[in-house]
Amino acid sequence: MLIGLCGGICSGKHSVAGYLIQHQNFRLLELKSSGSPHARQDYEVTNNAIDQASRLKFETAESLLEFATKRWQENWVTTHIWDAAALDRFLQRPFFLLVSVDAPVSLRWKRFAERYQKRQLEPPQLEEFVLWNDQQLYEKDIGRALLTDRAQVRLFNSSTSLDELHAALKTLNLADDQRLRPNWDQYFMELASLAAQRSNCMKRRVGCVLVRERRVISTGYNGTPRHLKNCNEGGCPRCNRGEGGGAGLSTCLCLHAEENALLEAGRERIREGAILYCDTCPCLTCTVKIAQVGISEVVYSQGYNMDSDSAAILEAAGIRLRQFSSPRNGLIYLEG
Ligand SMILES: [Zn+2]
Ligand SMILES: [Zn+2]
Ligand SMILES: [Zn+2]
Repeated sequence: MLIGLCGGICSGKHSVAGYLIQHQNFRLLELKSSGSPHARQDYEVTNNAIDQASRLKFETAESLLEFATKRWQENWVTTHIWDAAALDRFLQRPFFLLVSVDAPVSLRWKRFAERYQKRQLEPPQLEEFVLWNDQQLYEKDIGRALLTDRAQVRLFNSSTSLDELHAALKTLNLADDQRLRPNWDQYFMELASLAAQRSNCMKRRVGCVLVRERRVISTGYNGTPRHLKNCNEGGCPRCNRGEGGGAGLSTCLCLHAEENALLEAGRERIREGAILYCDTCPCLTCTVKIAQVGISEVVYSQGYNMDSDSAAILEAAGIRLRQFSSPRNGLIYLEG
């Protein structure tokens, strides 16, 4: 795999690269002449901790990417992705993961000042550092925020020592290749979450996907039936009253995501081996329908307020139930 690290001045991207090189058998890919508009300040004071033997240098981002493409099964890391056009090409490859590293600005200034002091240079004042940082991140068309914004994993490096950072990175295991390509559970659960986004129910957005032999049979989300006003346009008076949890459930006009997916598929197409993915654990009334149509397994991601009752019914009906949790992505705090 190839991990691209991006982030602001002294956020710790070189420390993360250093960890991958030392502990996870990665090697560093670099560009010879840096195209970064901010390279002068940012780069010179960093990156000396990584020894020369672990580095390979390239003329262009294209040749770097070509090199990694031919050897994608080995582990590579780069901190040299400077612009959005280059990033577009990297992100097209299935072995590439973009990771951003950020840290509180006060902490980054402290790290920066320490580096200057080590070289017996006068460190910049905090205000000067902040202005410089803003320019580097947000300058129109070339600011690094354009890159960090697209990261699949966003690390928040508030650790105060390298040991602490290393311990956190060890637990996280950035090199887990499930981050590159979702497994089947992840894939179908994300489709269920996508379906949930279409929901118009005022109570709660839920999405569901029915699958057999790794093929989608049907999808569903909750809301009022066909030809009725959408729930969020006042279609269901009960949902719009804003009462908590299961209050007035029997007067609700909204079909649940599971019901819609089951109705859409029909019993004929469900058959033995069908799996129901739902981002919320099915309620009791859905559970009995799930049992009746012959679903073999239910996978959900978030709990609901009647999980144990639903679990008991599913068990009695001989249907497997399991909770799925996806790998930690998005914003992750790196602390000891
Ligand atoms: Zn509703
Ligand atoms: Zn309702
Ligand atoms: Zn339900």
